[in-house]
Amino acid sequence: MIIDGDDTLWENNVYFEQAIEDFIDFLAHSTLSREQVRATLDEIERLNSGIHGYGTAAFARNLRETYERLAERAIETPDIEHVMNLGRRIVQVELDLLPDVADTLDYLAARHRLLLFTKGEEEEQRLKVQRSGLAPHFDQVVVTKEKDVAAYRRLIREQDLDAGEAWMVGNSPRSDINPALDAGLRAVFIPHPHTWRLEHADVRDDRRLLVLQSFRQLREYF
Ligand SMILES: [Mg+2]
Repeated sequence: MIIDGDDTLWENNVYFEQAIEDFIDFLAHSTLSREQVRATLDEIERLNSGIHGYGTAAFARNLRETYERLAERAIETPDIEHVMNLGRRIVQVELDLLPDVADTLDYLAARHRLLLFTKGEEEEQRLKVQRSGLAPHFDQVVVTKEKDVAAYRRLIREQDLDAGEAWMVGNSPRSDINPALDAGLRAVFIPHPHTWRLEHADVRDDRRLLVLQSFRQLREYF
């Protein structure tokens, strides 16, 4: 069983959402609505994710770029620093496990081989795993720059998985569910109300897909 980290095992995107709200307050644009500022940031994040990947350093850079594009005042170094710190400070927040995660992993690890498969910047993701205290439940922790079909195929090969028998568990249709199904895995979709907007996608109707309301519910099926 392969399990996602951010917003599946622990809170993550909610901190980015808060930073974006603070950023929009700081920008205080005179004509653009909050949603229009957000749309500009989304566009910059989409363009840059292929180049700079994911994580707080990339996010801080994206905030800076958005600020430079939209600011209605002279671009001053202290303001740039302030904007980038809104992103950088996320690494310092307390790591909050989602409800029943530790108990449920305890239950699952006794029955299945568990792999943690998380997307982002290597060192940052490993630090989160360490702070979560969840590493002992997992046979291995694999950090990947992108979660596309190729990444799942690589994981299946490297971990010697029987794709038709293995499950991918996660909150993101775009990163956890659709590419896993395309790689021949089965999938468990556990929606999180604060999933990052760029992770949204339609989940297709597939008999290899299970949709659950909470992490704890995995006990009923595995
Ligand atoms: Mg996730």
